[in-house]
Amino acid sequence: MSKTISQIQQGLTKRDFSSVEITQDYLAAIKQHNPAINCYISITEDLALQQAKAADQRIASGEAQLLTGVPIAHKDVFCTDGVRTSCGSKMLDNFVAPYDATIIGNFNEAGSVMLGKTNMDEFAMGSSNENSYYGSVANPWDHERVPGGSSGGSAAAVAAGLAPAATGTDTGGSIRQPAALCGVTGIKPTYGRVSRYGMIAFGSSLDQGGPFARTAEDCAILLNTMAGFDPRDSTSIDQPVPDYSQGLGSDIKGLKIGLPKEYFAEGLEAGVASVIESAIDEYRRLGAEIVEISLPHTKYSIPVYYVVALAECSSNLSRFDGVRFGHRCSNPQDLEDLYKRSRGEGFGEEVKRRIMLGTYALSAGYYDAYYLKAQQVRRLIKQDFEQAFKQVDIIAAPTTPEIAFKLGDKTDDPVSMYLQDIYTISLNLAGLPGMSIPAGFSQGLPVGLQLVGNYFDEARLLNTAHQFQLSNDWHLQSPEVK
Ligand code: GLN
Repeated sequence: MSKTISQIQQGLTKRDFSSVEITQDYLAAIKQHNPAINCYISITEDLALQQAKAADQRIASGEAQLLTGVPIAHKDVFCTDGVRTSCGSKMLDNFVAPYDATIIGNFNEAGSVMLGKTNMDEFAMGSSNENSYYGSVANPWDHERVPGGSSGGSAAAVAAGLAPAATGTDTGGSIRQPAALCGVTGIKPTYGRVSRYGMIAFGSSLDQGGPFARTAEDCAILLNTMAGFDPRDSTSIDQPVPDYSQGLGSDIKGLKIGLPKEYFAEGLEAGVASVIESAIDEYRRLGAEIVEISLPHTKYSIPVYYVVALAECSSNLSRFDGVRFGHRCSNPQDLEDLYKRSRGEGFGEEVKRRIMLGTYALSAGYYDAYYLKAQQVRRLIKQDFEQAFKQVDIIAAPTTPEIAFKLGDKTDDPVSMYLQDIYTISLNLAGLPGMSIPAGFSQGLPVGLQLVGNYFDEARLLNTAHQFQLSNDWHLQSPEVK
């Protein structure tokens, strides 16, 4: 089961199979392999078959859109009307959302079929998917290794052929990093391009939803459905959405690709570096001009992120108090006891660590020293990119410093876990779009190439990835699913 969306569309149009049939195939594969991979928290079988049936009727009546009848999995961070939306947390274990997130509504309108909700790090906090209340996810390439996080379930589902596509969110790397470690394609759009309405908030100034699929071509189709202005999200940007699929096709002769020297320094595994170098050589052969650039404030991105994101999460997660939202402890003695025990029982360790650090950074007397300072340095990081994009069209770099690491390897060392996002985090601080595409293997495990575009330049970004995928088949390699 490793079909692309384009192949499924063709099959549906030519009546090679119906949406019900392809949906049943995916559901059967999920039942067989999810117990070992654990990429789904909820499997919405009845709903999927109902949606598939409706899609088949729509196809028969000639009213199909591109995604009509195409199965998809959604990260459990997106509210889905009538379906449990857990966000990977005990806090929301029994939360059934009363409405759809905007992007879920978009997919429903297009007639796609929801297979289920994917596993994730609790409240999207993590780089390995080991922080989920529902257990960790196995990397389909090696079950003893992590799939990356926080959208680890979505990336693993696509890699294992348990969904042709999936949604994810990226606050500091959570689409690109798991895409890299699982060998699939993923894009985080420009901040404001995709609505955050109904997407449970982690760091509101950083969070952005985006798709996972096998190919850039599929990501273009998915982004066409996801992107656009939404009056219900005050940070959504009112700019026309180009047809991303139409943007694929032109060659990339003369495209200027910048390599930030700070991303090729100490800490980058030799096997990863050599795959990235070969990918850059391929771009050279395709006619791109490769230029060295500098992003001098890169070294501050992790500390800045861990002040900004944690401050924002401490505020966002205050709503889960056992009264308005979330798990409620049994037999509270008084209101304070109710708050303390509900939050104490509902949140996992990493989430608690972050709420405490974020609350500290925002407290009176420390705000200027931490949050304000971090926002100032954030501006410098953004300016680095603005300078760079005066010289180049696209920036290329590794997505991650290492291949997928072993489950449990970094759980006792949060700082080494945080360093996994060293190449992805600064884009979120700047609000820029970025992708990860499969570029080869090191020690038998996938390596991702990261491509960064200028603001709202997703069309060029997708085409740059597409041209690479036309010249090799790294993105079509699949693990043997056990
Ligand atoms: N790994 C980063 C973190 O733990 C980023 C997570 C994300 O993008 N949601 O915060």
